[in-house]
Amino acid sequence: MSASQAANIDIAAALAEAEELYRARNLKSLVQHRAACAAMPGGNTRSAIHVDPFPLTMARGEGARLWDIDGHEYIDFLSEFTAGIYGHSHPRIRKAIEQALEGGLNFGAHNAIEARFAAAVCARFPSIELVRFTNSGTEANLMAVSAARAITGRPKVLVFAGGYHGGVFYFRGHGSPLNAPFEYLLGRYNDLAAVEALVRPHRAELAAVLVEPMQGTTGCIPAEREFLAGLRALADETGALLIFDEVMTSRLAPGGLQDAHGIFPDLTTLGKYVGGGMSFGAFGGRADLMERFDPRRPDAFQHAGTFNNNALTMNAGLVGLTEIYTPERARALNAFGDRLRERLNAIARRREFAMQFTGLGSMLAVHMTDRPIRSQEDAERSNAALRDLFYFDLIACGIWFAKRGMFALSIALEEADGEKLVDAVEEFAQTRAPLFS
Ligand code: PMP
Repeated sequence: MSASQAANIDIAAALAEAEELYRARNLKSLVQHRAACAAMPGGNTRSAIHVDPFPLTMARGEGARLWDIDGHEYIDFLSEFTAGIYGHSHPRIRKAIEQALEGGLNFGAHNAIEARFAAAVCARFPSIELVRFTNSGTEANLMAVSAARAITGRPKVLVFAGGYHGGVFYFRGHGSPLNAPFEYLLGRYNDLAAVEALVRPHRAELAAVLVEPMQGTTGCIPAEREFLAGLRALADETGALLIFDEVMTSRLAPGGLQDAHGIFPDLTTLGKYVGGGMSFGAFGGRADLMERFDPRRPDAFQHAGTFNNNALTMNAGLVGLTEIYTPERARALNAFGDRLRERLNAIARRREFAMQFTGLGSMLAVHMTDRPIRSQEDAERSNAALRDLFYFDLIACGIWFAKRGMFALSIALEEADGEKLVDAVEEFAQTRAPLFS
């Protein structure tokens, strides 16, 4: 038997033991999961939060803490996959929601807050001259891509392997049969030469380039600046519209990752925290493009949506963006994330094992490989069993994050919480180090 075969057997045994502990500690969650299966397929209405052997059910959250129904306390290092940037029940967000409730929720008309919120979004993200709201990031991307196709009169959309833009724009692994039926060209992330070659025969048919400036779901893989600049140039040369999906990355700098790079798309999609933790999405960009939605025009594009201007989101989003997650706060949170990532990577380097934390600022992802990660293909080299073991070990230490290895920070976290994450990773490294050899 080779050394690596022996190591795999050790990892499998350790994982089985860790899973057993998880089952034993979380009996109420197991019962809840079984009950949920009666009315939802697999007990689930949101694929990303399923966990094998069964997911935990949370009872309560406060600040940066969560408690599950078995009574365990967690430090929340997931922050609702980036949407929970304010922590749980931030008093100013609560107040904004209460104010909305007091005023009545469903007018079937304009409310006075939506225009202020729209102005705040435009002020914050410089390439967004005009904006429209939706109920989710998925919807925002559907509208942006559909608008690009209608405006250019072209059918094709360039997307990237490992990209995720919502339930109908899933380009991870083998993709999804549920994807919106557009004509896609599937490019390799961070490989401009390959993308140019892919697009060449389709230049006159390309409507849009849809890209995350950092792939979030596939493991916090930042786009290199030259890659984004190349996509900007490609869109200009071909007449396609460049769409940045900043649903997750808009939190990474005061004006989003586009602002940090100084590379600006024609359209941007937003979601997650920008709605103050309520259901939210938005698409916006160049005024000459967005004006096509002006309902005063005889040829206006239709974009209805009962809850597009819902009072809860409008109120919570406005307060969140203008009073809480200010540009200074954004810089501070992302600096905290950068320091944390550096410390976590230092643990791996010091112990010389194949683990790394990728990402930017307040978003991090763990990969069980020491080879550089620039694309989904690279991320797939990560040792999946070790990553699962990492998950169960950290959950047992009271660290809440996504099983796929993703962490996102909230402003409710304190330095001491960061220390606890560092300690948990150090302990994982120490106890599991023999499995790496
Ligand atoms: N785009 C990106 C980059 C995302 O990460 C997500 C959600 N994780 C979406 C779009 C979809 O947003 P929503 O879940 O609000 O539909």
